[in-house]
Amino acid sequence: MTEEDAAAVLIRAAEGLFDSGVMSASGHANLSARVGREQMLITAQGAVRGLKASQLALVNLEGEVVRGSLDPIMREVVGMHTLVYRERDSAGAVIHTHSPGLLAFAMANRELPCRYEALLRFGQAEPVPVVPWAPRGSNRSVEGIARALGRSAGTMAVLLGNHGVLAFGPDPAGAGALLVALEEAARGELAAAGLGGSRDFPEGALEEVRQAMARARQ
Ligand SMILES: [Zn+2]
Repeated sequence: MTEEDAAAVLIRAAEGLFDSGVMSASGHANLSARVGREQMLITAQGAVRGLKASQLALVNLEGEVVRGSLDPIMREVVGMHTLVYRERDSAGAVIHTHSPGLLAFAMANRELPCRYEALLRFGQAEPVPVVPWAPRGSNRSVEGIARALGRSAGTMAVLLGNHGVLAFGPDPAGAGALLVALEEAARGELAAAGLGGSRDFPEGALEEVRQAMARARQ
């Protein structure tokens, strides 16, 4: 993706998060998109409502600013974005939010199980792991995320204990759509708890969904 394309899709993805109602009251989020192999375009400030191209900075995967400038608060979060791009070749975009349903799981330090069909359709068939809390931007926090990604090879998101969520996808639209599905799953779990709890899928559900999706594409 070129820098210009990345800016346009990041702005649309940020708007989509607000339109979908998954943002927390503070409007806090950070979004990035991979540019070439070794760089990313990232939101330069903590609040992303009404995001503009001038509020994005180009940063390399060592965390060095190539163009633009980052708010001090954003320097702390760059490491968790660059880590995902380094660990997952397929990642083209990373989004971090404090979406309320997912925040409940993060605060309870509980993994989010896969019991919602939309997650199967995104290929998120394994639970979203929780990274134990450590100060934002600290080596301990980034190393915890790396360990969770290593242990959960198929996950496209991690819950950050006592903090929020980090989701990634092939591009900003895909990462945003996954984040919306994850938030729906989290809210569904919380609501189902009052009805005796959600139920696991029957055996073979992921394979059945994959086959149905392949048939639909033919
Ligand atoms: Zn945060």
